[in-house]
Amino acid sequence: MRLLVIMEHDGAVVRAASRSAAAFANLVIQETQGEIETLVLGCDLGKVAADAATYAPTLTADHSALRVAVADRYAQVIARVVLERKVDLLVAASTSWSKDIVGRTAGLLGGAMASDVVGFEFEEDELLLRRPMFAGAVTATVALEGHPRIVTIRASAFDEIEPAKTPFEVTTLELDAETLPDRIVLEGAESRAYQRPDLTESRVVVSGGRAIKNSEDYERLVGRLADSLGGAAGSSRALVDAGVAPNELQVGQTGKIVAPDLYIALGISGAVQHLAGMKNSKVIVAINNDPHAPIFEIADYALLGDIYQLVPELIEKLDG
Ligand code: FAD
Repeated sequence: MRLLVIMEHDGAVVRAASRSAAAFANLVIQETQGEIETLVLGCDLGKVAADAATYAPTLTADHSALRVAVADRYAQVIARVVLERKVDLLVAASTSWSKDIVGRTAGLLGGAMASDVVGFEFEEDELLLRRPMFAGAVTATVALEGHPRIVTIRASAFDEIEPAKTPFEVTTLELDAETLPDRIVLEGAESRAYQRPDLTESRVVVSGGRAIKNSEDYERLVGRLADSLGGAAGSSRALVDAGVAPNELQVGQTGKIVAPDLYIALGISGAVQHLAGMKNSKVIVAINNDPHAPIFEIADYALLGDIYQLVPELIEKLDG
């Protein structure tokens, strides 16, 4: 079996979610005969390629036409590489980036795709994939019929792969930019200046819920506690809908999926749609003044009380 892992990056290093996807690929290859390559796309990829090559032999699609990750071009390039290298299983992290790009790649290839994979097994040489459905209420086991097969891996579902001491080979692919589609043109991108770590990559996430009354309190309680722990700040949808927290910080079924080492839920009831985004966190701490709050059912540590009283005390102790 030939595997190709798409390595997302920030221009310098491979993202943690892709390292987890590479770990999945490595485990698959341990159970079957085959080879893994990684693929990095973008422009001026020297540093990223060197990083990716510490995981597996690396192919780079390095061209000014790929400076911006627009889906029609990227999907086309990935699909061509899959066909040229006779890839059987295309693997990527399950991220916003791949939802756009890898989904299109699957469309171009006409293969069979499973997204958000969290586990796998082989049954008589057949690769069976486990993926959550219905906001995590059900874990389905699926077999993909068709070729090639395309999977995206939920971040943190597999422990990140250790980099090799001696890097693998890097091969730069020939690219004829004239033949790439140009239907999508990025006119500009705006983003809020945001100092805290990325929600999906941070080992600690502190999230606030409806109990928090306004943006100042959100910053004072959620933001400060996250800073004290060197973590990311998140939110339930209730706070996003109320305009207290920005949209990109929403955790849950229709927000980001996180699985940090430590997740702290402040004044969050634990609706199934919220749990869908964080229940795979390694340690869950919940602070809530309702002893019957559903979040307590999945919490490893439960603090019954008022967040307005307990969180400042906690911050003081941590900073003290
Ligand atoms: P609430 O459910 O109102 O809970 C607030 C909690 O704070 C309560 O448990 C209360 O006891 C506690 N509390 C109040 N005051 C204090 C205090 N002073 N100290 C301590 N505790 C206090 N939600 C998400 O989060 N993410 C999603 O992605 C998402 N997607 C959805 C998709 C769909 C299709 C639908 C229908 C819903 C979705 N929701 C999502 C909404 C979800 O159903 C809940 O409404 C939402 O998660 C509730 O947010 P909350 O826990 O902050 O608020």
